[in-house]
Amino acid sequence: MSKIAICPGSFDPITVGHLDIVTRGAKVFDKVIIAVLNNRSKQPLFSVEERVHLIKETTSHLSNVGVDSFDGLLIEYARQKKASAIIKGLRAVSDFEYELQMASINRKLDEEIETFFMMTNHHYSYLSSSIVKELAKYDADVSDLVPQNVQRALQEKHGRI
Ligand code: ADP
Repeated sequence: MSKIAICPGSFDPITVGHLDIVTRGAKVFDKVIIAVLNNRSKQPLFSVEERVHLIKETTSHLSNVGVDSFDGLLIEYARQKKASAIIKGLRAVSDFEYELQMASINRKLDEEIETFFMMTNHHYSYLSSSIVKELAKYDADVSDLVPQNVQRALQEKHGRI
């Protein structure tokens, strides 16, 4: 049976930190589905469709990586996709408490779906989508932090090209 993992998140927008987690995850699992959360309570910079499109462009070289969006409960979505695992990245201790809570709740909802944590590549431990958005707002250089297509999309959003 092929092992499918879901890599959930807002990805608003995808960064090289996300890409690193997905690339490493794709070496361990048969298939990784990047699942963009359609979170109605957050005001995103990019629409879900834009985020999915940017991720598809960025991961087109990874043959066992798919991109999708979902709303509602992650565990329901994982069941629907017949996934056996959820992959999350951990940056700092500050991520830990929230992620422990989420993993525990998800295990309570479905014991068959395991959450796997991957330590950030130390080069990206400070990197988040929020930081990227803040920098891009002030036209700072984000070329080391996001893939090229995302850099372009950020410039377009801010009317710079
Ligand atoms: P954020 O908005 O905080 O950047 P997301 O909600 O899009 O993050 O995150 C999706 C997943 O990617 C989460 O598991 C998060 O911990 C992980 N992640 C985000 N940035 C990094 C990074 N720089 N290194 C490792 N994991 C990361």
